[in-house]
Amino acid sequence: MTNAGLFARAQAAIPGGVNSPVRAFRSVGGTPRFLVSARGPYVTDAEGREYVDLVAGWGPAILGHADPRVVEAVTDAAARGLSFGSSTPAETELAELVEERIAPVEKLRLVSTGTEATMSAIRLARGFTGRDLLVKFSGHYHGHSDGLLAEAGSGLATFALPGSAGVPREIAALTLVAPYNDLDALRAVFAEHGDRIAAVITEAAAANMGVVPPLPGFNRALVDLAHAHGALVISDEVLTGFRVSAAGWWGLENGTDSAYTPDLLTFGKVIGGGMPVAALGGRTEIMDQLAPLGPVYQAGTLSGNPVAVAAGIATLRAADAAVYEQLDATAATISDAVSAALTAEGVAHRTQHAGNLFSFVFGEAVAGGVHDYAGVLRQESWRYSPFFHAMLEAGVSLPPSVFEAWFVTAAHDEAAIGRVLDALPGAARAAAS
Ligand code: PLP
Repeated sequence: MTNAGLFARAQAAIPGGVNSPVRAFRSVGGTPRFLVSARGPYVTDAEGREYVDLVAGWGPAILGHADPRVVEAVTDAAARGLSFGSSTPAETELAELVEERIAPVEKLRLVSTGTEATMSAIRLARGFTGRDLLVKFSGHYHGHSDGLLAEAGSGLATFALPGSAGVPREIAALTLVAPYNDLDALRAVFAEHGDRIAAVITEAAAANMGVVPPLPGFNRALVDLAHAHGALVISDEVLTGFRVSAAGWWGLENGTDSAYTPDLLTFGKVIGGGMPVAALGGRTEIMDQLAPLGPVYQAGTLSGNPVAVAAGIATLRAADAAVYEQLDATAATISDAVSAALTAEGVAHRTQHAGNLFSFVFGEAVAGGVHDYAGVLRQESWRYSPFFHAMLEAGVSLPPSVFEAWFVTAAHDEAAIGRVLDALPGAARAAAS
């Protein structure tokens, strides 16, 4: 069946034809590709067309798709049973792997999705501090739980409005939304509400409004400010964790002048190697407030699922220093080539980097770079759709929105990168028109 036929059929059976909204191509238009297999740097659709993939399952596939080591670990685990609902030795092994790499994680609790991880971390922060308010940054995404879908109201740093139908105003009003990378705004929030704030949650490096890295020292200053007011910091590494380095974004800043120590960290994506594993971790004193030791309830039938955990362990073990070097080099090659192609066609733009994550903002207004959501929104976002479709037609699958990061894998070899480079001149021309 064609992609169009499959989409029509899916729309009759599934709301919008998708199980997660961005997959519907609403922001770029056109028909989503229905994928049937993926291997290495390639994905194949139901019409038998192969694409070089720069989505990587939205991040997890750092080794490339269906890496034989991961597939073998999953197959072995599956043969021993799909789900026990009981403790397993592998869960502890995965927790230890994370704790060895990321010093602020003294204990780790496994869950199944990033949404669950952030939701549980917030409950834990509230339980630990005995306070109610949460601060988040405009343009940061932490999953789809009620308090985190809050949108900024008008004004610099405000009590939030519901960002979705179905979120009660009273819930949204427990979240304060502040502009990213703006310490003065954050100081103002703490000056006014400091004794009621349980935690600040921040993407360790923002990558859900396109890539917007923290300004040097921002994470550290934010931790200092929160701690001065008795609040915790939740560093959300669902996207950056084990992707930008073996120790995530924390690892990139650790040992530098801007080193920081968050109280809680959340993980997802790479930690499950493409299977549903996510986690929250942090200081023992805080983590031990979780049930059964402490009064903060948190649980899950599929938490620590043995097949999923096997994929996570195999992925983390295989991702050695050489893998991260290669991810960095590939990200640089592709992002430089995109930038050169856009420049050749006279398209004003800026490459936004956070480690090996990157994206592009378009237009003169943002060509100097952007540091917050308001900046991101000033771009000529309409240039992305023709660029995206020209790449897709040429056999390269990009994230279907200008507000998403691009993801490379260690399986992107010369042949795959070459196909991306070949597609760029035509796509840049499309973006220029
Ligand atoms: N936090 C961040 C930084 C994310 O990028 C995401 C998902 O993209 C989430 C949380 C939510 O994770 P999940 O989609 O697994 O619920």
